[in-house]
Amino acid sequence: MNFELGEQEKKIQRLARRFAADHFILKRAIELEERHEYPFDVWEKLGRTGLICVDYPEKYGGKGLKFISTIVEIAELCKRDSGYGMAMSLGWIPSILFAEFGSEELCEAYLPGMTRGEYLSGICFTEPNYGSDLTWAGTAAVRSGDCFILNGDKQFITNGRYAKFFTVYAVTNPNARKEKALSTILVDRETNGIDAAEIGEKHGSHMTSLANVSFQDSRVPCRNVIGKRNEGFRNIINFFNKSRIEIAAQGLGLAEGVLEKLFEYAKKNHYLRGKFTEQATQHQIADMRIAAESLKLLVFRAASLVDKGRPNPRYTSMAKKHSGDVAKFVTGEACRIAEPEYRRCGDIEAYDFRRFERDSKIIDIYEGTKEIQKNIVSSLELRQHGL
Ligand SMILES: Cc1cc2nc3c(=O)[nH]c(=O)nc-3n(C[C@H](O)[C@H](O)[C@H](O)COP(=O)(O)OP(=O)(O)OC[C@H]3O[C@@H](n4cnc5c(N)ncnc54)[C@H](O)[C@@H]3O)c2cc1C
Repeated sequence: MNFELGEQEKKIQRLARRFAADHFILKRAIELEERHEYPFDVWEKLGRTGLICVDYPEKYGGKGLKFISTIVEIAELCKRDSGYGMAMSLGWIPSILFAEFGSEELCEAYLPGMTRGEYLSGICFTEPNYGSDLTWAGTAAVRSGDCFILNGDKQFITNGRYAKFFTVYAVTNPNARKEKALSTILVDRETNGIDAAEIGEKHGSHMTSLANVSFQDSRVPCRNVIGKRNEGFRNIINFFNKSRIEIAAQGLGLAEGVLEKLFEYAKKNHYLRGKFTEQATQHQIADMRIAAESLKLLVFRAASLVDKGRPNPRYTSMAKKHSGDVAKFVTGEACRIAEPEYRRCGDIEAYDFRRFERDSKIIDIYEGTKEIQKNIVSSLELRQHGL
């Protein structure tokens, strides 16, 4: 058992740390968030630095590294700044399914541009009537010659307004059961009949676009099916095995980042430093660090199972669920400790604590809610014990 990161992961960590220090500017983040604007220039620079999808094959612009490198990178980016870190990682997370199961031809056509930072990806599984329940979809893809005609409405789609391509979850075999009824299909933004309507004000992650995306008689070539036709359910479950760990890494970054900010802030602020001499505050700090450290072990364990070729939904879901809890708890505690002082000073850096706290809430929801993660953990636990 080895609890140390390897040299390669440490290198990515250093690179990500330097990148975030150079390009994640707090004052600009606040302005971007007020305008709900995506930092495309930073995304492009991330691509030029070679930090988009470091675990993807080199032929698609990745570095061919282990999955754990991506996890370390996401945590590092989110540690510096929750808004930028989430926006950057959400630029590529929707492409995981496509990168995993897409044909050589499609991956060559779409992935290098994304890893260069030219555009973002999107994934559409959630619908008004099918969110947590992915055994069916209202969106239908009906065969017509060498195309599918796609009709349906997807909701809460990250990068909905900007993504160059979407992975769309749709029914292709309406007479079958869940395992054989749905397909995952790549849909280019230029396809006819696509409409993306921005949802508007959301609680956090304000730099990313969240839109309802609809398809009306959209013609998609049959060769755009990702993986095997009618095996979309299997694909989506496999997608979650990785994407949920990447989301858990966001929460880890938020928790570690806010702790770091608290100490940095205390060095500059007498009142806060004084507070650190009180046992009650010291115990808060201890609880925060214990929570963050336990999350790190779980997230790295889940990622290392992916690297060993044995992704384990129990570990993935434990990491995702714990990440939401820890991110909310640690960022909330940091606000409680620092808030009286930053209110008094009106300090812009102190406003950062609130941003982290606000952004932590989403970890519980996207890529499957915390209740769904608990369902998965408990059902696998009970099954293992023959119950
Ligand atoms: C900021 C943001 C970004 C998102 N990005 C994307 C994206 O890019 N692509 C995409 O497809 N989706 C995306 N989503 C959607 C997200 O994945 C869904 O909101 C989530 O999966 C829950 O689905 P739902 O909203 O339909 O809630 P529902 O499934 O209707 O659930 C409502 C509540 O009931 C609970 N619940 C449901 N079923 C069960 C059950 N069996 N047992 C116990 N409790 C249950 C849920 O936990 C939840 O609390 C995003 C959401 C947000 C908020």
